[in-house]
Amino acid sequence: MKIGASLIRVVSITILLIIVVTDFFYIKLLKNRIDNITVLTSEADSMVVVKSSSFNGPVVVFTADFIDNFYHYSSPFKDGMDFNELIKKYIRNRWADHYGCGRGTRERKRIHEGIDLFVPENTPIYPLTNFGIVTEVSDNPHFMVQVQYTKPDGIIDSMKIEYGKTIRILYPEGIESIYTHLNEVFVELNQKVDRNTVVGLTGLTGNIRNSGKPSHLHMELRDSNNKSFDPRNRLRFEQNSAANFIKHINIGD
Ligand SMILES: [Zn+2]
Repeated sequence: MKIGASLIRVVSITILLIIVVTDFFYIKLLKNRIDNITVLTSEADSMVVVKSSSFNGPVVVFTADFIDNFYHYSSPFKDGMDFNELIKKYIRNRWADHYGCGRGTRERKRIHEGIDLFVPENTPIYPLTNFGIVTEVSDNPHFMVQVQYTKPDGIIDSMKIEYGKTIRILYPEGIESIYTHLNEVFVELNQKVDRNTVVGLTGLTGNIRNSGKPSHLHMELRDSNNKSFDPRNRLRFEQNSAANFIKHINIGD
């Protein structure tokens, strides 16, 4: 009986020790995870990045507040319109100015990869959300961009198109907007911009001169694979495209 009692004591103490040691490591693991979390939130409409000093992990939390503030897209003219209202008001010809309308020639078929918004020349333009980073900018009125076209035999090739003065802005969701045919650009590469930043002025640069069209803003939206899409179909986006944005803001620094 005595041997049985001390055996129970040894087993109990061993189990207790295992629990204490396991807990110690588990708590350490949890603490480590907490240290590696970065929280993106907002305060009075500004982006706030909360992170631990020992940040070295990939965990990023976007608060609902952050998404409310920075995933909400509206007009580049800062008139408070959403994309549908914008299209109704500023698109002149639904067969020519929309996303997806036919462009090019029989030999080089391509689509219009943006929307043409007919506003007066030199209208100030702004980012589409409350925070963005300038990922491309050209002050060259003959700036060329590589685009895809389809040959009559169905083979896809690429060619250069003259976009003129151009600004590309990346938003927290991982989406980019491209503004072209500008008369003026006021931003620099990697500059952080918000809804109050006048990034440029609409104009007449690039191939607009051959098209016979008056001054307008050619605006494209691109996903994180650099594929253009119809602004009216913005909902097809997956939020994981935010990874592209996180890469750009150097959260780990
Ligand atoms: Zn266009």
